[in-house]
Amino acid sequence: MDLHDTSELIRNAAARAAAYHASLNARGVAPTAAALAALAAFDEPFPEEPTSATETLELLDCIGSPATMATTGGRYFGFVNGAVLPGAMAAHILATAWDQNAALSAMSPLASRIRSVVSRWLVEALQLPGGTEAMFVGGATVSNLCGLAAGRDFVLAQTGWDAAGDGLIGAPPVTVVVGEQAHSTIAKSLSIIGLGRKRVTVVPTDDQGRILASQLPDVDGPVIVVTQAGELNTGAFDPFPEIIDWARQRNSWVHVDGAIGLWAAASPARRHLTAGMAEADSWATDGHKWLNVPYDSGIILIRDAALLRPTMSARAGYLPDGDLDPMHHTPQSSQRARAVDAWAALRTLGRTGLAELVDRCSDHARRFAEGLHAAGVEVLNDVVINQVLVGFRDDATTDRVIEHIQNSGECWCGGTMWKGRKAMRISVSSWATTAEDVERGLAAMIAAVRAGG
Ligand SMILES: *Cc1c(COP(=O)(O)O)cnc(C)c1O
Repeated sequence: MDLHDTSELIRNAAARAAAYHASLNARGVAPTAAALAALAAFDEPFPEEPTSATETLELLDCIGSPATMATTGGRYFGFVNGAVLPGAMAAHILATAWDQNAALSAMSPLASRIRSVVSRWLVEALQLPGGTEAMFVGGATVSNLCGLAAGRDFVLAQTGWDAAGDGLIGAPPVTVVVGEQAHSTIAKSLSIIGLGRKRVTVVPTDDQGRILASQLPDVDGPVIVVTQAGELNTGAFDPFPEIIDWARQRNSWVHVDGAIGLWAAASPARRHLTAGMAEADSWATDGHKWLNVPYDSGIILIRDAALLRPTMSARAGYLPDGDLDPMHHTPQSSQRARAVDAWAALRTLGRTGLAELVDRCSDHARRFAEGLHAAGVEVLNDVVINQVLVGFRDDATTDRVIEHIQNSGECWCGGTMWKGRKAMRISVSSWATTAEDVERGLAAMIAAVRAGG
């Protein structure tokens, strides 16, 4: 095959992708047992000789497509797995053909320009302070890590300690304050950056999982506080003004884990939930959840991007050191041009479309809560954004109802633990979810309650 021969293959892939999307509404959300059994076809020995790309694509489509979870349709409500917007998918396909390395502007001036445009749009859409920069990473786990690493370096620098240079052995202790419901990836990030999973000061939360500001500890010395915009079960927002007040009295670093909820700031109807949030120092969010861009897209927004450099920069004689080069501001060096997907999503949505996406998903979530409440199901959260948390009679019933829903193919929801009991989460995170999908999902849930409750 030479470069001229690739066009037929690319068209073939595009045609198969289009057929897959067109099939989403008619198929069950979870793959069938038969589709999963057929995955055995992938268990081939490593081919001795080259294999045809056309035939490889055909195998992937014929066996792979039916075995997918239909997360990019309108009736997947599990975890917070977003779908993919058509405009973002199209741009992603082209960007894959470009195969740009976005590590350095010297490697891809195009990727660098698009990142800076998206950064400006995001700061505007999310109403963050001027001068804030957005860097693209693999997901909100990594964006949390970036915000916390910058915070660690900042608070230790205030004491005269160079954490990036000298590490943490012998450094003054850093107090990390988190809420009881902090996302699991905060502990993971703290472990990776050497602050330790266990060395956190945990603040109790209220019935929605919000930090109780009155319970913030009286600490001094270097302090980082981790707040949340959009608790993963309830969608709740921490009381930012009180927490940031407390933090400013201590010259501490404030990080916001807004993997889900940061987007509420883009909606005039829901922006009030994020009041005070813009006073923080760093904000983590995901593109691949609510913005509906392809996976492997997290975003770290930081008031002073230069604070990422001490830890993230990679120095060598052959490496240019451009001002906002992603390689010197994120854990990865080589990286795909992730900003292209977000650029296309934001450009095709526009300001009103982005707000509408947030509001529509949130309204659907509210309809789920109303419909389930009317059917006698207990709704455990105040539905403020796209997350609904419901409880059934007891833990065993909850397990049975969830299994019934997942097996129905009509929709897909997962379980969680909430304040000591099992519960079911409904997350409306797909642009493709329609009012009809919600009614179908509700009917499947209510049928599962009747059958299993
Ligand atoms: C999903 C999520 C994360 C982790 O994001 P990934 O994209 O899976 O790495 C962190 N915090 C919260 C609140 C989340 O919902």
